[in-house]
Amino acid sequence: MRHGALPSDVCDVAVVGAGAAGAMAAIRAGQLKKNVILIERNASIGRKILLTGKGRCNLTNTAPVDTFIEKFGKHGPFLRTAFFVFFNQDLMDFFKANGLALKEERQGRVFPEDDKSSSVVKVLEKALADNNVRILYDLRLMELKKEGEFFRLGLGDSGGIISKKVILATGGASYKATGSTGDGFRIAKTMGHTFAALKPGLVPLTTKESWVKDLQGLTLKNIRVTFECEKKKIASEVGELLFTHFGVSGPLVLDLSNEIVESLWAKKQVSLFIDLKPGLTIEQLDNRLLREIETHGSINIKNMLKEMLPLKLSPVFINLLKLDAGKRINQLEQKERQAIISLLKGFKLTIGGTLPLEEAMVTLGGISTKEINPRTMESKVVPGLYFAGEMIDAHASSGGYNLQQAFSTGYLAGEKAAECAK
Ligand SMILES: Cc1cc2nc3c(=O)[nH]c(=O)nc-3n(C[C@H](O)[C@H](O)[C@H](O)COP(=O)(O)OP(=O)(O)OC[C@H]3O[C@@H](n4cnc5c(N)ncnc54)[C@H](O)[C@@H]3O)c2cc1C
Repeated sequence: MRHGALPSDVCDVAVVGAGAAGAMAAIRAGQLKKNVILIERNASIGRKILLTGKGRCNLTNTAPVDTFIEKFGKHGPFLRTAFFVFFNQDLMDFFKANGLALKEERQGRVFPEDDKSSSVVKVLEKALADNNVRILYDLRLMELKKEGEFFRLGLGDSGGIISKKVILATGGASYKATGSTGDGFRIAKTMGHTFAALKPGLVPLTTKESWVKDLQGLTLKNIRVTFECEKKKIASEVGELLFTHFGVSGPLVLDLSNEIVESLWAKKQVSLFIDLKPGLTIEQLDNRLLREIETHGSINIKNMLKEMLPLKLSPVFINLLKLDAGKRINQLEQKERQAIISLLKGFKLTIGGTLPLEEAMVTLGGISTKEINPRTMESKVVPGLYFAGEMIDAHASSGGYNLQQAFSTGYLAGEKAAECAK
């Protein structure tokens, strides 16, 4: 339905934002036979879903609920009821029942079998139609007011809609071209809500060392990455790191970025240490170097490092070590050997910041979980108003957890809003 035909009747549930959270909220309220309207500022639903998982949509994860709760850190317990009511198996059953075959990949990540995020959007479109949800496209919620028992949704020049219950599911504030420009935060604020500062999450990091650009495109696999803030370890994991022209990225860095953003925003110095040989202790590495010196003592440092490191990395290493690349390895002094080992075990970079919010996969911050009832997703500030999805201050690392959060909170908000819309 285009916005020429705004409904004049009072609807039971108005859902704002047709992303994963809003679509699922509207579907659930529709299943409960309510008169549901879904308002979307774009001409189609699920623009952000199309981008997810590099166009393949990692829609959930097969991990148990406790792992999910852990992934959401201090906000995890808030999501327990939402996950209890509609969890990963329910979501997978929903998609399968609507004709979409799914597959599981490494670390429990679930994707559509055809690798197309558009297939996920098509299922949502079908389920919205099957449950008689009226979708108003090309309409942007501009203001929200409570008038007695009802809400008035102001849609700019297009007029307004009256609804008994409202679910705000307008997403975060990144990848603005998808429609998620942070409107919901502003609107919730006018209704009396507070929201935690919006910060980029799952985001690449910039480094102060400009020489990283010489390493652009280099992927390091099976390395350990450790972030330290003021000499305290804040995150550490083994995985894959990608060098870019501005700093570092790749799945491991994106995931750990959520844990270091707070320190960066507090203007604290954050350092990144890369252990290039996590499987070897310092002693084992030293023995290996000594063996090398014994058997191939006449080769130079440059050639030895070429054997131990990716091609692009060895010149950077030599520069940092301030060693003569042509020096024969049997002439290495003990302290020089130790310097090589220290660098292999702790290749240091200084983190300058993150890429901007616009380029972040999630928006950290949002409507405080303290202001939302975890059993219903209803606002504790404005009765009858509900929240779902990325708007809520509860985010996880990558792996399908964030979309499951959107589907679960959407489902719960849709169900509770529908039950209460009498
Ligand atoms: C590049 C990228 C890849 C990602 N990959 C994954 C992945 O593989 N797996 C995963 O779990 N998570 C992934 N995420 C995160 C995931 O996409 C989000 O967590 C999820 O989409 C949030 O859903 P949502 O419904 O809350 O918000 P959104 O999907 O952002 O939906 C909000 C909707 O509200 C609409 N809207 C906004 N303001 C208004 C208004 N005023 N009036 C009307 N409509 C409005 C928007 O147009 C939009 O359609 C990825 C994110 C990005 C950016």
